[in-house]
Amino acid sequence: MTEAYLPERIRVSTGSAIVLGLLRGRLDAEPTTIYLLTYRDEKCSANCGFCPQARTSIGRADMLSRVTWPSFPTRQVLFRIERIAKTDDIKRVCIQALNYPKVFDDILSLVGEIKSRVKVPISVSCQPVNREKMKTLAEAGVDRISIALDAATEEIFDKIKGRLVGGPYVWKRQREALRETMKIFGEGSVTTHLIVGLGETEEEMVQMIQWCVDLGVYPGLFAFTPIPGTLLENSPQPSLSHYRRVQIAHYLITHGKTTCKNMPFDDDGCLINFGVSGEQLREVIETGEPFVTSGCPGCNRPYYNEKPSGPIYNYPRQPLHEEIAEIERQIGILCPKPFRPSY
Ligand code: SF4
Repeated sequence: MTEAYLPERIRVSTGSAIVLGLLRGRLDAEPTTIYLLTYRDEKCSANCGFCPQARTSIGRADMLSRVTWPSFPTRQVLFRIERIAKTDDIKRVCIQALNYPKVFDDILSLVGEIKSRVKVPISVSCQPVNREKMKTLAEAGVDRISIALDAATEEIFDKIKGRLVGGPYVWKRQREALRETMKIFGEGSVTTHLIVGLGETEEEMVQMIQWCVDLGVYPGLFAFTPIPGTLLENSPQPSLSHYRRVQIAHYLITHGKTTCKNMPFDDDGCLINFGVSGEQLREVIETGEPFVTSGCPGCNRPYYNEKPSGPIYNYPRQPLHEEIAEIERQIGILCPKPFRPSY
């Protein structure tokens, strides 16, 4: 009998590799999800301006955001996942997929292998695929799908992922793919990624968060992180005050406490008011929850966008009392004009 197809190697985020016992090291915050990235010798066939895996990036091939992803034999990784999933130490496995011709086969075989060994929920973060393939992933036992919009507006999308950087992605198709995926996976099972700090205003980002929520898609927030060798290597990270305000608006909207319609913005698109009472706002901030990593349940992505020494954009755990006090000071800073990179 021939053995079922399985890619020989797979990349594992360094934090996940330490949790799995594939690498030795000390972790300030342990990932609660095991993050995998499909492996190939060449780079991704897409060309996203922020990504070191992009086709024309001269950045390191083992990086995604500011995390390194060493590769390991797939069977060794599966064995370790099987062992750790039985201890309840991980809440999810996330398979992040590059764009290349055989990627769907790679994803499907990985999902099948993991599901045949353990019951852990699986997220797949991939390019839009057709309806049949989405159904196949659902039948294979994928718990959640993520299709990244990354940008808050069509103009920015075209500049960082689409036609203006020679990328294969089209804004309309990406949004349509989220709609289609919703029909197959259902409300509460589709995620997207939004990157704050690509030149959008707070108003544009908050409107996009609302669009996702209205569709039933959960938007996970990322802070733009410049990586050497990428098209956007010289662009700055968003200011913390800007990021915190978007995090608060994101929390209020995704928790149904208010909507974008109740949030006024100034002429520069900066939030003037969150559309809840001062008391409600204070209560929400004091929980610290808006500042914890957002995404699929159980996804904490430690230090994806920041050095462990800070400043921390997304807390991989509940922020401490003194950290919340610091966050309150950060929010108090006047809204700076959004930086618009000249790409
Ligand atoms: S939110 Fe987290 S678990 Fe979900 S697809 Fe994104 S990185 Fe993976």
